[in-house]
Amino acid sequence: MSIATNESPTAPSSNVVDYLQLIGGEFRAASNGGWIDSVNPTTGQVWARVPAGNTDDIDLAVAAASAAYEDWRSTPAAQRASILRAWARSVREHADELWRLDSTDNGRARVETSPAILGGAGQIEFHAGLAETITGETVDISPTASTYSVREPFGVVGLIIPWNAPLAMFLAKVSAAVAAGNTIVVKPPERASVSVLAAARYLADAGLPPGVVNVVTGEGSAAGEALVIHPEVRKISFTGSTATGRRITEKSTSNLKVLGLELGGKSPHIVFADADLDAAAISVSAGIFTGSAGQACIAGSRILIERSIFEDFVDRLRIIASRMTLGDPLAESTDMGPIAFDTQFEKVREYVKVGSAEGATLAFGGRSGAELFDEASPLSGGYFIEPTLFVTDDNTSRICQEEIFGPVAVALAFDTEEEAVALANDSLYGLAAGVWSSDLGRVHRLIRRIRSGTVWVNTYRRLHWALPFSGQKESGNRPSNGPHALDEWLEHKSVWIEHGA
Ligand code: NAD
Repeated sequence: MSIATNESPTAPSSNVVDYLQLIGGEFRAASNGGWIDSVNPTTGQVWARVPAGNTDDIDLAVAAASAAYEDWRSTPAAQRASILRAWARSVREHADELWRLDSTDNGRARVETSPAILGGAGQIEFHAGLAETITGETVDISPTASTYSVREPFGVVGLIIPWNAPLAMFLAKVSAAVAAGNTIVVKPPERASVSVLAAARYLADAGLPPGVVNVVTGEGSAAGEALVIHPEVRKISFTGSTATGRRITEKSTSNLKVLGLELGGKSPHIVFADADLDAAAISVSAGIFTGSAGQACIAGSRILIERSIFEDFVDRLRIIASRMTLGDPLAESTDMGPIAFDTQFEKVREYVKVGSAEGATLAFGGRSGAELFDEASPLSGGYFIEPTLFVTDDNTSRICQEEIFGPVAVALAFDTEEEAVALANDSLYGLAAGVWSSDLGRVHRLIRRIRSGTVWVNTYRRLHWALPFSGQKESGNRPSNGPHALDEWLEHKSVWIEHGA
């Protein structure tokens, strides 16, 4: 493994920048004057601050969204679409600024954040197109009546997003919600809000009326929970961990909110001996040793390998990992950035200890932080963990069952197709799976039998806004993306007009 030193790490601590919330078209600090430090995970230094919003800020934002709702829902769909297209253009124009902020804030390497911004702009345009396709149905029930259904926005909706891809998620979900005619309050992740606050600036430039989109930063337990229990918020779309999803479900029962949950994963990546092993090894490695250092909900963190090729395949992964460049996420040459913040860094390091304590064999990796860099390097204070692979035969172990959310994978051997399916499904999660095989019959059998929202075959981690994405089991309950993406943001209303014969 090599370390990128050709571009200096970002934002020295002397240049701390303050970013503001967007409420009712105005940029504001938190009502109580509190701030949250944003730490650059590449250096461990504070580089920005975001307001520590709380219940008062959520109340203001919901009031602004409520005030903007009737006008926004009555704005012709073509006009809503036109404003969204202007936003997409503005995001493209400022793509360079935005990916740099995203990478600086959460450490996700440029190789991922830069294309994600352009993808986000494309998705805004896709949702703008869908705004003009919202339809109801006419149902022929009786000759004396006209009976039909219409789709309507929910009203004020809440969006809570995680730190691993905050900007991409903000662009995707906000554009769908407002294309459908809702007004929205967004609660970004407390440790990676900067790129979202920056992208929100360009909404006003695009002509979006004040109050249609509001962004309140702050802790999940304060601003997040206040949004979840707010009586005027009709729906919450939450993306984050399964544990928080469970808590939000409990909290939201007070006024029976509609909940869309997109949660964690522990995705199996299955390799059969008949696969193209060169391509499989590259894909399996890229599925977990990502630009975001394995902090991807769809990371292929359980690698299931047919026993006859097990040793050979682990060797291939070891060689690929040894050639990866770990370093400054802003550098073009960097393959993998740091973990996003200190407590997650400690959590992943703890799992490395857990793996060894559980009796798994460390096939490669395991080093982190100061063990990886020269003491004089500014990166030695960063939250880096090298690509790490454990080998075990115990799928009940914690490293096989719990989402680590870092560049730490576990490999297990299987003998038969039946056993591969059983191992793949032996998880609380059901977000994604990968299958590498040249046997078409087997591939189709596995697609049917694996319980996950996505199955990739002879590829991995491919997403597109036109294809639905969702979790099964404890990985979530509602889809995003796809031709029906706006349905998630619309309610049904039925009409029965009795007009006689
Ligand atoms: P998290 O659950 O800790 O936090 C997510 C968001 O919820 C943050 O904005 C946080 O402030 C907020 N929050 C926390 N407690 C809250 C509460 N009590 N009430 C309201 N809001 C609260 O998740 P995370 O650690 O930020 O993100 C990582 C997780 O997200 C992983 O489990 C990952 O798999 C998952 N994820 C899922 C998807 C998907 O599409 N399924 C995509 C990305 C990430």
